[in-house]
Formats: sequence, C-alpha cells, structure tokens
Amino acid sequence: MSRIQLSANFYLDEFTRSQTAARRGIDMTVSEFGVVYFTLRRLCRGVLQPLRDALGPVHITSGYRPPKLNRMIGGAPTSQHQYGQAADIVVTGHTPLEVATWLREHVTGYDQLIHEFGQWVHVSVPSAALHEPARLERLTAIKVPRLIGKPRTVYVPGLRTLEQARQLHLNHKEAA
Ligand SMILES: [Zn+2]
Repeated sequence: MSRIQLSANFYLDEFTRSQTAARRGIDMTVSEFGVVYFTLRRLCRGVLQPLRDALGPVHITSGYRPPKLNRMIGGAPTSQHQYGQAADIVVTGHTPLEVATWLREHVTGYDQLIHEFGQWVHVSVPSAALHEPARLERLTAIKVPRLIGKPRTVYVPGLRTLEQARQLHLNHKEAA
C-alpha cells in the first residue's frame, strides 16, 4: 500500500500511529479528502513543513486521535487532536522551547502553540471546515503539586522556561 503524502516530508501514517489504538482495536482510518485529511494537510503545509525545512526531521509523538482514543488516554474533551488540528512534536537536537520559539517567529497560521512540560510542543491550526481565524495563542504547561493527589496542569501565558512559568504562576497566586 502506498503512503498518503500530506506535504514534502510528512505522511498520513505518522499522524495515525497509536499503540493504544492498536491494542484496543480503535479504527484510525482517515478518509482521503475528508475534513480530517484536509486539516492535517493544512497543519503540515502551513506549520510542520516549514519547521522541518529549517530545523530537520520532526517526530510526531501524538497526532490524530478519534474521540474514543482521546477519551481513553485522558485527553481534554475539547482537544483539537480529535479533528486532526493538532500534533505533539519533538525535533532531535532542539529543545521544545527552541522549537516553539522558532514556530512563533516564523509561522503565522498556527492556532495554539504550547510548550508542554519541557518535553514536547503541541501545535494546532484552525479546522479546515470552519472558517475560524488562527488565534496565535502561546502557552506554557507546567505540573503544579497538590497537597493530595496527582499534580495538576497549569497553563501560563507565553512561551517560557519551566522555571519562569513556575515563578509566574507563584507570583500570580500571591497577587490573587
Ligand atoms: Zn497535544
């Protein structure tokens, strides 16, 4: 079977690989020339390909997640991964903050750009079906400990180091 190409260096199967889906028998089929397909293509052509051309191979650690898969792995109920709008990425030889900063400075069509826990970058585009403008929203996600239970995720505005993000969160809490 030939691979379905989305842009010069990106193929559909890179966005539909999931161990959980394979184990649980979730159908990851994306119909060619459907909305998810066109949205993934927009993500590749507008965001990921320019990044790849500049910084080198981009690894997709999470791409398309049908709603069932998104629920299983505890994704946000409104996650843009469900519509082919978002990808979690890493680029070998570059920190996630460097990757996110490059995107902020060179790409104009992104919707959300999130530096996640110092480990990867979440980047999304508006849906190909809805005529929504790109929000150009930039955030840093950190884990904040709680007295009881698992740490919670907090999003602070801007692309920052984890240390800066923690400090900003603490200052904000003190001021509140
Ligand atoms: Zn993500």
